[in-house]
Amino acid sequence: MPKVLVTGGAGYVGSHTAHVLLRKGTEVVVVDDLSRGYRHNVDAARLHVRPLADTDFLVSLMQREQFDAVLHFAAYALVGESTEKPELYFRNNVAGTVSLLDAMSRVGLRRLVFSSTCAVYGEPLVVPISEDLPKAPLSPYGESKAIVETMLSWMDRGRGMRSVSLRYFNACGADPEAGLGEEHDPETHLIPLLLRATMTGQPITIFGDDYPTPDGTCVRDYIHVLDLAEAHIAALDWLMADKPSGFFNVGTGSGYSVREVLAAVEKIVGKPVPFRIGPRRAGDSPVLVANPAKIQETLGWKARYTRIEDIVSMAWEFERKHGKRRTAI
Ligand code: UDP
Repeated sequence: MPKVLVTGGAGYVGSHTAHVLLRKGTEVVVVDDLSRGYRHNVDAARLHVRPLADTDFLVSLMQREQFDAVLHFAAYALVGESTEKPELYFRNNVAGTVSLLDAMSRVGLRRLVFSSTCAVYGEPLVVPISEDLPKAPLSPYGESKAIVETMLSWMDRGRGMRSVSLRYFNACGADPEAGLGEEHDPETHLIPLLLRATMTGQPITIFGDDYPTPDGTCVRDYIHVLDLAEAHIAALDWLMADKPSGFFNVGTGSGYSVREVLAAVEKIVGKPVPFRIGPRRAGDSPVLVANPAKIQETLGWKARYTRIEDIVSMAWEFERKHGKRRTAI
C-alpha cells in the first residue's frame, strides 16, 4: 500500500478522497491550513495545520514520512472571488503549488495527482468537451489551474516528476455515513443552496433563463464527490505503476439544467423549492459537459453515480444529519 500526502485534506473533495483511501488501507497524512477546510473532516492524529507556502516544513515532513505520492487538493475554488481578488488565487493556488513542487524536488518525490478543473476550457467551442480542446480560462481561478498544469509538464521534463491532472466538472454530493459533505462558507453551489431553500423558505436565485439551452438555464455535468475520490485512486494506481503523466476530464458525460436539478431536489425533499429568476452570473458558460472517454479508456475509471436523484438524495441526507453543525463553525 502506498503512503500519501494529501494537501487540502480537510476540504470538500480532499476529505472524501482521504476517507476512501483510509478505508482501502492506504496511509494518509494531511496538510491543510484550515483557511477553507474544517478540522472535523480529518482525524487529528494525521492532520498538520500548516500553509503550503512553508516549504521547509514540507521538506522535513516528506523526509520523515517517506511518501510515495502527493494528492494535491489545497486551493481556493470560487470563480467569482477569483475575479475580484486575482492575487489571492495566484498566491494560494500557484505560489502554494510552487512551494510544494520545490519541496518534492528537494526530497526526490516524483508522483503527484493534481485537482484541476473544467474551468481551464473557458467557454468551449464544442460540447461534450474532450481534452484536446484548447485551454482558454475565463477567470483567475481557471487560469491558476491552467498555470499549474503547465508547470507540471515542465516538472515532468526537467525533474522526471510524473503527474495526473484531473479536470473536475461540477463536484457535488456527499458521503453522509462518513459525516462528510459540502460545507463551503459562504455556500455558492447549486445543490446545497436548493436544499437549504426548501428548509428556510428563502428563494434561491436562478442565474439566467435565457441561455441557448432546451429550458433556458445552464447545463452542467454533476459529478459525485465519491466518484471523484475513486478517480484519484485510479490516478494514484496509474502513477504507482510508473505510467506517464496525463490530464483527464472527470465527469459523467451527461448534463442537467438548473431547472432539472431543481426538479430533482423537489422530488427528493418532497417540497417545492422557492426560487426567482435573476440575471446571468458573470463567467457562466451555457453548457459544460465532459467527454469522459479518455479517463475511461486510460485509467479504467467510470462514474457510478449517474442519476441526479441519487446525488441529490445523498446531499440531502448529509444536510439533514449534519447541516446543523454549520451554525457551530
Ligand atoms: N446557479 C444558480 N443559482 C445559484 C447557484 C448556482 O442558478 O444560486 C447555477 C449556476 O449559474 C450554474 C449552475 O447553477 O449554471 C452550477 O453552479 P455552481 O456554482 O454550483 O457550480 P459552477 O458551475 O460554478 O462550478
